[in-house]
Amino acid sequence: MTMDDTPGKRLAKKLSDRVRAESERAAEALRSRPDYSRTFGYFLELAEKGPGAVLNRTGRETVSMLCVQVPPELVHAAGLQPFKIWGGSSWNFSPPEAPTLMCPMLKASMAVMGANENFQGRDWVVPTTCDWVVKFPEIASRVWKRPAPRVFWLELPHLKERPYGGQRWLEEMFRLKDFLESIGEKITGKSLARSAALYARAWRAMNRLSDMRRDGALPPVWFMLIMGTFFLDSPERWTEAAENVTPSPVGNSAVRVFLAGSPIFFPNLKLPLLLEEAGLYAAADDLCSSGRVIPGAVTCHDTSEFGVISAVAERYHRACLCPIFIDNDRRVNNILGRRKDVRFDGVIFHVLKGCHPYDIESLGLESELKRRGLRFLRLETDHTPEDSRNLFARLEAFHNTVKGGFHDRQDRA
Ligand code: SF4
Repeated sequence: MTMDDTPGKRLAKKLSDRVRAESERAAEALRSRPDYSRTFGYFLELAEKGPGAVLNRTGRETVSMLCVQVPPELVHAAGLQPFKIWGGSSWNFSPPEAPTLMCPMLKASMAVMGANENFQGRDWVVPTTCDWVVKFPEIASRVWKRPAPRVFWLELPHLKERPYGGQRWLEEMFRLKDFLESIGEKITGKSLARSAALYARAWRAMNRLSDMRRDGALPPVWFMLIMGTFFLDSPERWTEAAENVTPSPVGNSAVRVFLAGSPIFFPNLKLPLLLEEAGLYAAADDLCSSGRVIPGAVTCHDTSEFGVISAVAERYHRACLCPIFIDNDRRVNNILGRRKDVRFDGVIFHVLKGCHPYDIESLGLESELKRRGLRFLRLETDHTPEDSRNLFARLEAFHNTVKGGFHDRQDRA
């Protein structure tokens, strides 16, 4: 057996061929849309090439993070490139070494990252969020037939509003700093403040895109594609491209909705494309793959090392809306608060099959939002295309219901 013939190499080749062909097809379909603008080209190319090219693009050693609760500012301040692990492949990749009902996003990540051997051995930061995330390094190394990556476990307090939750998280940030320094450069108050300023600029660019989408000047499909590419290049280059995105106006006949729930990544844009086809306009979202890629700009008046790390810790913990938290009233309040600014009449809640945190959360959220007069539709799906017509029928019915309610209100007025 030659080196190229090991089971691990054969699997990487198979994954690489499948993932590349699928990404090329999806990118081509997006390029041929009538609303394609030249300024989207950079992002589409990033998405199409995927994580394999991050090292070449940035020249920095890559640290893979399994969740957006890891502050990229800290990773960047150590001279490293933060990469958020993601995958949107619609291929039903079901290796016997992985549980059948595994989170589809992580299954797709195994395919995408397995196709890029360079990535498998790099250092990972894994926050203890949901069970799938916690078990992912073990499952992935079994599937890839390689030793597990070097993992830094970031212990996440699931009660975040209690003072000891914040204190524990701050301690974790200092442990993370030590880990990052062991593979990169020393992090100082100044280097961290510089990185925080870079990410604050990226966040402002994201906000501008979000406002464009709210105002009907950026189709949600493009917004989601652009946001999903954030960790594939240096924050400077990505931000500059985002600042240059030009409006691509959409007609305003669609019914406006808020999109919540499990993340959505290229090339699996099934749901945003179906929403569009059904006449529903996702004017805002709170997906960790899109509307909340970073939770906000870190502002710090105290520029000492302790001061900046405390500001970063506070921003990434308290502002996070992830359903794995026990005390998470912010989530419903965030949707209701956004309604004033964004204007929408319904909420579409996306649940990936096997994604327990969002599945459980959808039940409580549904009754609360309906009580406040919002229409609510929960859609459970995976990345495969088989249920597309069924989803479309439900979205179309939802569109008609929301539109009917809107006309009733107008008639009564
Ligand atoms: S929260 Fe849901 S989508 Fe995210 S990793 Fe866990 S199971 Fe997957």
